Amino acid sequence: MAVPILAYHQIAVPPSSSAPFRSMVVHPQAFHRQMEWLKRLGIQGLSLREALPYISGAKTGKVAAITFDDSYLNVYENALPVLQEFGFTATNFVVVNQIGGSNIWDVPIGVAPAACMSLEQLRRWCSLGHEVGSHTLDHVHLPQLPMEQARRQISNSRGLLEDMIDEGVSSFCFPYGDETPLDRVLAYEAGYSAATTTRRGRARPTNDLFGLPRATIRRNDTWLHFIKKCTFG
Ligand SMILES: [Zn+2]
Repeated sequence: MAVPILAYHQIAVPPSSSAPFRSMVVHPQAFHRQMEWLKRLGIQGLSLREALPYISGAKTGKVAAITFDDSYLNVYENALPVLQEFGFTATNFVVVNQIGGSNIWDVPIGVAPAACMSLEQLRRWCSLGHEVGSHTLDHVHLPQLPMEQARRQISNSRGLLEDMIDEGVSSFCFPYGDETPLDRVLAYEAGYSAATTTRRGRARPTNDLFGLPRATIRRNDTWLHFIKKCTFG
């Protein structure tokens, strides 16, 4: 059975209509309704590490992986209580050099500053059974880097995160969905079990575990869009 891997960014009241990448900000009430839909459809929301056996075909069941890119503080504030309410787990992909910082990589393209989770918040996230994954050290375009720098971004971010949260880190997410076959190999060599992209679709046993497709959930997705992304494609 194919598994949808939902990709969220910020969970907050969306900014004004002219703001760049406003579509990546999902309203907390919309997020709540979406989680309610999953529950109603009998779909269990899981972190990527818990969803992997379903993706590989080792387990069967109605599940969706829930992922958040960039580790925003508003995910901790607005999404975490909802995940707890529905008994779901999720994966948070962290930009390691911005723990307690902000989305400085977005500043050149005009996105409003947004705070990232602190280390204390990441530890609490983990203690509740949620997963922390790596999203590199600096939110870089990996294919534009010399190999040694790409390797450092992929591998060192894992080691640093593991030391900080005191648990294993097995999931990786390519910033901007930018990756080449070499980047997938580097993620494998760094010891991850899986890596996600922004390619569209649901994840199947035939997928490369280091190039998993996802369904990006956007601000203006209707409930019908949401259900389609969870059940078709
Ligand atoms: Zn990102």
